[in-house]
Amino acid sequence: MYAKFNVSRDTANTFIGLLVNRRAYSIQAQQPLPNGKVPYYLARDWRTKEPKLLDADAVRMHLNGDITINLYAINPETQRSKWVAIDGDFDGAVEALFRLQWELKQDGVEAAIEQSRRGGHLWIFAATPLLASECRIYICNVALRLGVPVVGGGLKQGIEVFPKQDRLEDGEYGNAIRAPLGVHRKTNQRYWFYEASPAPEAQLSYLDGLKKLTEEELRNFIQGMELPEAYRPPAPAPYVSTRSTFNQAEFRILNFVKTTRKDSRNWWARCPSCSQIGKDRSGDNLSIQIKDPRYYKCWAGCTKEEIRAALGQPIRSKQTA
Ligand SMILES: [Zn+2]
Repeated sequence: MYAKFNVSRDTANTFIGLLVNRRAYSIQAQQPLPNGKVPYYLARDWRTKEPKLLDADAVRMHLNGDITINLYAINPETQRSKWVAIDGDFDGAVEALFRLQWELKQDGVEAAIEQSRRGGHLWIFAATPLLASECRIYICNVALRLGVPVVGGGLKQGIEVFPKQDRLEDGEYGNAIRAPLGVHRKTNQRYWFYEASPAPEAQLSYLDGLKKLTEEELRNFIQGMELPEAYRPPAPAPYVSTRSTFNQAEFRILNFVKTTRKDSRNWWARCPSCSQIGKDRSGDNLSIQIKDPRYYKCWAGCTKEEIRAALGQPIRSKQTA
């Protein structure tokens, strides 16, 4: 079992100052699903169903060990992030993170390594929020220089860089990462930063004392650099409204699920994959973008493949022209 704490509001505010740039957040379930996953749910107001805003009370509960929260990197209003986190959970990941930490130090960038279930997370904190696209250019180039593999461009094993997107469109959340210093519900353990004692106050004062990366420094580092080819997201396919060029009917999720409600950005529906295992009683785990219903997401963490399979519409392997 894990230690419980009773942190002060000041401690929670230090955490917010370092880590919170977007106030939508998600919460990890207390129990694993039958498939072993411990999903995250977008925190929502139970009455209005609108996303809840992260505040000092929720952060205190996270640090105390009552809930576990996940943070989104990018604030869509600014396309900026307060931090960069590098997730490594492959064989040799911890060694790769220490090499990255050393290499960053040569640039005068201080980074902290947090232990994780299967490897570690390396965190860099910003003096002021930095453009997600510029953070990604820098880190991917440092990794390339060191020969550290980065997930993307077909690579399945390697570090993952958060922010994972260059920018977010309206209504998108991007990828979230487990907030530091909380309890991982899969193992019921806390994973601490290596360089400070195992208590929230000591850990946060260590993080607060690190030198913060400024926009000026970052822009100097990436002068003349681009995002390495391999890490660029694939160009979006043009939207063909009825039939694709291969004359196959395009899959349309709205033809298969019954929506339960609608807000300004999304339709909401019962997730077919959750419902197969008796979950999603409230019928709103699945969001479907109104603007472009090709984009849908299960907030309990089901993959697109699982959702399509549950509908009897498995994803066929990609055809190439
Ligand atoms: Zn689901």
